[in-house]
Amino acid sequence: MKDRALSLGFNRIGIARAKPSPHLDAYFRWLDAGMHAEMGYMAREDRRARRRDLNVILPGVRSLIMVGLDYSTLKLPDALTNAPRRGKIAAYAWGVDYHAVMTPRLEALAEWLREQTDQQIAHRVYVDTGAILERSHAQQAGLGFTGKNTMLIDPRGGSYFFLGEILTDAEFDQYDKPGRATLCGSCQRCLMACPTNAFPEPYVLDARRCISYLTIEHKGAIDPALRPLMGNWVYGCDVCQAVCPWNRFAIETHESQFYPIDPERAAPLLNDLLTLDDEAFKVRFAGSAVERIKRDRLVRNACIAAGNSHLPEYRPILESLAASDRNEIVREAAQWALSAARL
Ligand code: SF4
Repeated sequence: MKDRALSLGFNRIGIARAKPSPHLDAYFRWLDAGMHAEMGYMAREDRRARRRDLNVILPGVRSLIMVGLDYSTLKLPDALTNAPRRGKIAAYAWGVDYHAVMTPRLEALAEWLREQTDQQIAHRVYVDTGAILERSHAQQAGLGFTGKNTMLIDPRGGSYFFLGEILTDAEFDQYDKPGRATLCGSCQRCLMACPTNAFPEPYVLDARRCISYLTIEHKGAIDPALRPLMGNWVYGCDVCQAVCPWNRFAIETHESQFYPIDPERAAPLLNDLLTLDDEAFKVRFAGSAVERIKRDRLVRNACIAAGNSHLPEYRPILESLAASDRNEIVREAAQWALSAARL
């Protein structure tokens, strides 16, 4: 099974018994504190029920096959990613959407498993698409430990990898041992480096302050108090991973699809983003994870980054967006950029 997973291109695989996550209580406390922000679906009772008992997802489930796929590509020069005229996109979204890469391979792995036995085998495949605590189960399958930044970290390979899983009613003759609970020690780099102070305590991320949540998941206007802290991130954020010392062991991916087709996919010029219409957005981001937030949300984020740049050259385009963009959230963000940044 493991050889097959590696031959399909996955970099890590572990197999765990399908038991409830040991982090379930902490997760429910996190939900009850409202730290999932506007991702209300996470708190729905049907979702809670699935996380409590994996049988609700797949009756008779016995095993979880957890896989990881590295996505770390070239490190872009700081001159590019910190250029005031550019926005930053989180590294996981520089190339092709990982769902499209991983899901068919997981299905192929499940099919291979089915061929190895004459029994009927049921399965479900997820790539961060299911109501299960993916990182926690991956830790139980021995793929790594949980960092204070809430990421799953492989002590031999850092945290720049995607997770996916197969739930199956197949039983294995061996299961992997869980990874260590944590190996952070006294380090607090990620907690200190977070631009918006999104970690109220170690191992707890308040999505309401997280730049990744704000730029990707949050649909409305972003809290004005947080905007100046967002810098030039326009899609996601890598800060809590970039400062983590375990990422000195990050392994460069062998997936050419995860490399940006050009530097503009990783650090686009803000002017280009501010002038996007729906058609240009589709052409530019087709097939990447950025595509899912659509034009309006990306232009909202670009307005905030333009305001944070304090560059007067954006005044004309921001005035135009503030006056006549079809989207109210974009108009408001453009107005904020003009006034808060005194452009
Ligand atoms: Fe743990 Fe330090 Fe990495 Fe944060 S930066 S996840 S505290 S090792």
